[in-house]
Amino acid sequence: MKIREKILVVEDEKSIAHFIASVLNTNGYETMQAPNGSQAQSMISSWCPDLVILDLGLPDMDGLDILRALRTWSSLPVVVVSARTHEHDKVDALDLGADDYLTKPFGTDELLARVRTAIRHTRTSSGNGEIARTGIYTVDDLVIDYNKHQVLVRGENVHLTLSEFRIVALLGKYAGKVLTYDFLIRELWGPRAGNDNQILRVNMANIRRKIEENPAEPHYIFTEVGVGYRMAEGE
Ligand code: CA
Repeated sequence: MKIREKILVVEDEKSIAHFIASVLNTNGYETMQAPNGSQAQSMISSWCPDLVILDLGLPDMDGLDILRALRTWSSLPVVVVSARTHEHDKVDALDLGADDYLTKPFGTDELLARVRTAIRHTRTSSGNGEIARTGIYTVDDLVIDYNKHQVLVRGENVHLTLSEFRIVALLGKYAGKVLTYDFLIRELWGPRAGNDNQILRVNMANIRRKIEENPAEPHYIFTEVGVGYRMAEGE
């Protein structure tokens, strides 16, 4: 099953929010809308979108503050949308870590192009050359297909839950490096998830049961006791 990429549209002007959402839905993305900053922040944590489209002028806060807060814990791609034409707003947004910038009014093609680029950019920002070129990470008999949201072992599609897929995908992106429990929890479930490792352990036990020949002696995902997890490095 292909899981559609999830995009959160943060925009208080209903007609623009509706335009963006309908363009994205028509083109195969799943969307949710947040009309203000506080809803946006809670939906980023609870819904875990793959990309955020962020209007800068919101009724309850400045979009730049949302971006600033988000960047303290996440590299989630953000495309900033604004009616502001001043160059310094654009520079501020990019300095704070926005992936791209759209100035209103914009058309369908421009919107879709920016979204595609921003999503592709996160897939490749790990510096993993294989993922950058192909959208695929391979180590021995394990294949992570980032475009199809699939994990295959010995050619067989492994049925992972969304959380399980996200964990495997993240570890693959940083293969060879130890990702701490804290980093994984924040990337997956947001800053409010706290530091309870239990849910991560449960997910990892399920992942190992599904991908490892012998879950007690893992071949693909290693535990660094008291620190985190590490994906085996490919060729
Ligand atoms: Ca606005």
